[in-house]
Amino acid sequence: MKEVDVLVVGAGVAGCALAVGLLDAGLRVLLVEKETAPREHFRGEYLQPAAVAGLRALGFGAVVEGAETQRLDELVFLDIQAWPDRLAGRTTIRYPAGQAARSLSH
Ligand SMILES: Cc1cc2nc3c(=O)[nH]c(=O)nc-3n(C[C@H](O)[C@H](O)[C@H](O)COP(=O)(O)OP(=O)(O)OC[C@H]3O[C@@H](n4cnc5c(N)ncnc54)[C@H](O)[C@@H]3O)c2cc1C
Repeated sequence: MKEVDVLVVGAGVAGCALAVGLLDAGLRVLLVEKETAPREHFRGEYLQPAAVAGLRALGFGAVVEGAETQRLDELVFLDIQAWPDRLAGRTTIRYPAGQAARSLSH
C-alpha cells in the first residue's frame, strides 16, 4: 500500500480544493470519494467572485474564466410572486470594481 501524508475524505468542492492545495505544497495526498456515479443534480453553475478568486489561486483560472463560462458583473434577484413582471420586486447587487462572478453556459 502506498504511503500518504494526508487522507482527504470527500471529493466535493472543499475536498478537491484541499487536495490540490496540499499537493501543491508537496504533500502526498489520497483523495477518496464514496460516490461512484456523477451527482444527479448539477452544482456550481454559479461562482461568486470569491470562489472565482479561490479557484484562480489554485491554478484553475483558465477553466473558470474560459470560453465555457460567462462573466457576470451583477446579481439580480427576482420576486417569483411577481412573475411574469420581471421589474417588480427586483433587487440588483453590483459587484465591486475588479470583481466578477462566473456562470457556466449549459
Ligand atoms: C442542487 C444544488 C446546486 C448548487 N449550485 C451551486 C452553485 O451554482 N454555486 C455554488 O457556489 N454552490 C452551489 N451549491 C452549493 C454547493 O454545491 C456546496 O456549497 C458545495 O458542494 C459544498 O462543498 P463541500 O465540499 O463542503 O461538500 P460536498 O460538495 O457535499 O462534498 C462532500 C463529498 O464528500 C463525500 N463523502 C461524504 N462522506 C464520505 C465518506 N464517508 N467517504 C467518502 N466520501 C464521502 C460526498 O459524497 C461528497 O461528494 C449547490 C448545491 C446544490 C444541492
